[in-house]
Amino acid sequence: MSNAPAATTVIDRYAVMGDPVSHSRSPVIHRLFALQTGQSIQYELLQVAPDKLESAIRQFAKTGGKGLNITLPHKSEVTRLVDDMSERASNAGAVNTLVFQDGEIFGDNTDGVGFLRDLQSNLGLELEDANILVLGAGGATRGIISPLLDTKPRSLMIANRTVSRAKSLAEHFSTQGPVTACRFEDVRKPPVYDLVVNATSAGLTGQTPPYPEDAISEHTICYDLSYAMTATPFTRWAKEHGAARSLMGWGMLVEQAAESFYLWRGVRPDTAAILKQISITA
Ligand code: NAP
Repeated sequence: MSNAPAATTVIDRYAVMGDPVSHSRSPVIHRLFALQTGQSIQYELLQVAPDKLESAIRQFAKTGGKGLNITLPHKSEVTRLVDDMSERASNAGAVNTLVFQDGEIFGDNTDGVGFLRDLQSNLGLELEDANILVLGAGGATRGIISPLLDTKPRSLMIANRTVSRAKSLAEHFSTQGPVTACRFEDVRKPPVYDLVVNATSAGLTGQTPPYPEDAISEHTICYDLSYAMTATPFTRWAKEHGAARSLMGWGMLVEQAAESFYLWRGVRPDTAAILKQISITA
C-alpha cells in the first residue's frame, strides 16, 4: 500500500459581490450550469459594502478565487479596479464580471448581451424602430443602453429619479443613437412606448416609485430587470396599467450568467434547459 497522500480535488471558487446581495439567484444558476456542463466550481454570495469593495476583491483573488460577478451598487466603481477591460465594459462604464488570471484583473460586462439574448432569442421581440423607455440610470442601465441602441430603435428615453444621472448617461451614449433623458414625471405618452424597461432597484425594497402611467398602452411590453418568485412591484404595476405583456428578468439573469460562465470556464451552458428548470413567470 502506498503512503502517498490522497490527491485532493481543487474546486475553483467564484462569487457575486453586492450590497444588498441576499436577493441574488446567481449562486443557484451557476450551480445548475456547473452540473449541466460537468464543471467543478463553488459559487458564493458575498455582501460587500462600498468602502470594502477593493479589499474584498483583492482578498478573494489572493486566496485563489478565479472570478467574480459584481452587482449593485458597485458596477461603475469596479471599473477603477481592473487592469484591463473589454470594449463593451469600457463603453458601458460598468463591469459585472471579473476574471482573475496571472495576477491581473480583467473586467467585462455581460448584462447587455444577456438582456438582448432574452429579448430577441427567448422572447422573439423585434426592436428596430421601437420607442423604448428605460427607468433607472444605475449600473444595469449603463450595460443595456449600447446594445439597445445597436438594435436601431426609433427613440430611447432614460427616466430617472435623479435626473442628472439620466442626463449624463444620455450624453455619454448620444453618439450611438437617439437617446434622451428626463425625470419620471416628464415622461409623456406620445410616442407610444413599445418597450418599457424597469432598471431601478426600487422593487428590491418593495417600493413602487411614481412610474409614468402615461407610458403604458395595450401595445407596450414591460420588462423588469428585477426578478422574484412572485410578480415584482413593477410587473404588477404594469399589468394593472394595461401593458400587453409584463415580464421579469429571469431570462436576462440566466443569459448574462451564461456569458460570465463562458468567460470563466470556456464552456457555454444550454440556457433554454436552465430557464425551463427555473421557469417562473410574472
Ligand atoms: P444601481 O446601480 O444601484 O442603480 C439603482 C437605480 O435604481 C438608480 O437609477 C436609482 O435612482 C434607482 N432607484 C433606487 N431606488 C429607487 C426608488 N425608490 N425610486 C426610484 N428610483 C430608485 O443598481 P443596478 O445595478 O443598476 O441594478 C438595478 C436593478 O436591476 C436591480 O434590481 C438589479 O437586481 C437588477 N438587475 C438584474 C439583472 C438580471 O440579470 N436580471 C442584471 C442587472 C441588474 P437614483 O439614481 O435616483 O438613485
